[in-house]
Amino acid sequence: MPLDPILALLPEPIQVGISHIPNMIAFDFGRYLIASTVIAAIVWIAKRSGGAYRQIQKRVARSADYRREFFASLRTCAVFVFTGIFIVAAEQMGILYDIRGSYGLVIDLALFAAILIGHDAYFYWTHRMMHHPKLFKTFHRFHHRSVTPTPFAAYAFAVPEALVMMAFMPLWLFFVPTPVSVITAFLALMIVRNAMGHAGLELHARWWLKTPLTRWICTTTHHDLHHSGNFNRNYGFYFRFWDRVMKTEAPEYETAFAASVRKPERQPADAQADLAAAR
Ligand SMILES: [Zn+2]
Ligand SMILES: [Zn+2]
Repeated sequence: MPLDPILALLPEPIQVGISHIPNMIAFDFGRYLIASTVIAAIVWIAKRSGGAYRQIQKRVARSADYRREFFASLRTCAVFVFTGIFIVAAEQMGILYDIRGSYGLVIDLALFAAILIGHDAYFYWTHRMMHHPKLFKTFHRFHHRSVTPTPFAAYAFAVPEALVMMAFMPLWLFFVPTPVSVITAFLALMIVRNAMGHAGLELHARWWLKTPLTRWICTTTHHDLHHSGNFNRNYGFYFRFWDRVMKTEAPEYETAFAASVRKPERQPADAQADLAAAR
């Protein structure tokens, strides 16, 4: 149903897209606010309960950093909602797949794995492209203003970079008939991993690089190194695969991760202070 006579002049698929705006606002802003706030709360609690040694950089993000990252991320969410109108319209027109329901657990899980692998490749290559000197200033410099990122940097992109990030979804839905439930799960995981990658404090277990099951999955230190100076290293997002294959992984990554999760030795002075306090 058109909202008013002006909307009624628009093509029907665009009208349907516009009618989805409230849902898209709830989903796009909601998942960013929830993921970044929950990860920031976990970091805050960890720092106050003996996990402060896991902070990756000595430098601490300033309140101006938090503000810039937060408001830029809201702008990115607005870009996602606006472009979402056209994605819904394209689905209405049959240009993009709009699959309701499920193919069954096994195929849905396989599609979920496929979209992660696809997005990992897309992220690596577009990210690496945006580091090209001719593109960096327009697309990606804004994101790198966060030298010491916080979870709120998850969507801290300039508008051109937000458009590149958004473009993955219609591209995928043009080729792969993926159920909405799988897309929703993927977008939820994506924002959580994104907020974790910018957490500034290593959130992954001490043994992460020691088991073959987890060592190929990126950690907070992996992306933090990219922000703190290794601009031309560690372009990957979910997996280390492309950085390893293309030889762009920071050579000090594993040492830096080990340093992030190494519990500091207790000094004899600490033990004496505890003893004095106990007396
Ligand atoms: Zn980043
Ligand atoms: Zn970058």
